[in-house]
Amino acid sequence: MDHLLNADLHSHSLVSDGTLAPEALAQRAKANGVGLWALTDHDEIGGSERALQAARAVGLPCLTGVEISVTFIGVTVHIVGLGFDHRDPVLAEGLHRTRSGRERRAREMGDELARVGIPGAFEGAMKFVDNPELISRTHFARYIVEAGHCKDTYEVFRKYLADGKPGYVPHQWAALRDAVGWITGAGGVAVIAHPGRYKLSTNEEFALFSEFKALGGQAVEVVTGAHGQADVVKYAEFCREFDLMASRGSDFHSPEESHCDLGRLPDLPGHITPVWTALESRVQ
Ligand code: AMP
Ligand code: MN
Ligand code: MN
Ligand code: MN
Repeated sequence: MDHLLNADLHSHSLVSDGTLAPEALAQRAKANGVGLWALTDHDEIGGSERALQAARAVGLPCLTGVEISVTFIGVTVHIVGLGFDHRDPVLAEGLHRTRSGRERRAREMGDELARVGIPGAFEGAMKFVDNPELISRTHFARYIVEAGHCKDTYEVFRKYLADGKPGYVPHQWAALRDAVGWITGAGGVAVIAHPGRYKLSTNEEFALFSEFKALGGQAVEVVTGAHGQADVVKYAEFCREFDLMASRGSDFHSPEESHCDLGRLPDLPGHITPVWTALESRVQ
């Protein structure tokens, strides 16, 4: 698998906070010229079997995937797992525990939003939820747009749902050690997702990469929907500095909401090792 493979190793279905079914995503990825695809739903691998089957049906090479929510020094970071055994019981149990606090958090979010003039947000968000174990801020954002409080989901996050805003409820996610351990224990590769999005100081970011590497993490997303060119250059350099492989993924959620479509991404810079070179035997 070569360097310029159109790999898209980060995407979401309605099994978490995307709007398309795994089957529709596989078809869209194929139509967009993706050459290797992974469905990476938040804290959930319930769509894996459907994704693998749908990819097979359209002749699209596919890896198992997940995006695990982690709390690292009080900050939420996301760790993508690729190419693991999706029947691994330790991974399944870890993800189940990671999901378990979401409903209570969502009810609190509903209470907070009611205080700032948005009543009924929990029930409203639930209308957009397909998987009852996976209510997320994205579902609230969709409801708040539908109810006419904001023009799009980006505005909702800016005004209500980002850290520090009135509808934000802090939450304790998985430990970095556990997330990396579940992924590698199931035979997969752990990847730091969209590092350019975290509000970490230089020292904190160094700590994240150092600990991640020490725990057995192997890759970082260099090219992803949320990264500009400066991020690509920066995290390609981090690959060299921390001896990590590079991943590439759109983080596609929805045709209506996502700025970056499946497979419509810049190439990886030339001097780094693509994560898919270590995953050839895992492609299904
Ligand atoms: P949760 O796991 O419930 O905290 O929701 C996190 C999800 O919210 C992310 O995976 C994104 O899909 C979405 N999200 C987070 N921040 C933003 C933002 N600033 N703009 C748009 N979507 C966001
Ligand atoms: Mn999401
Ligand atoms: Mn993420
Ligand atoms: Mn994502």
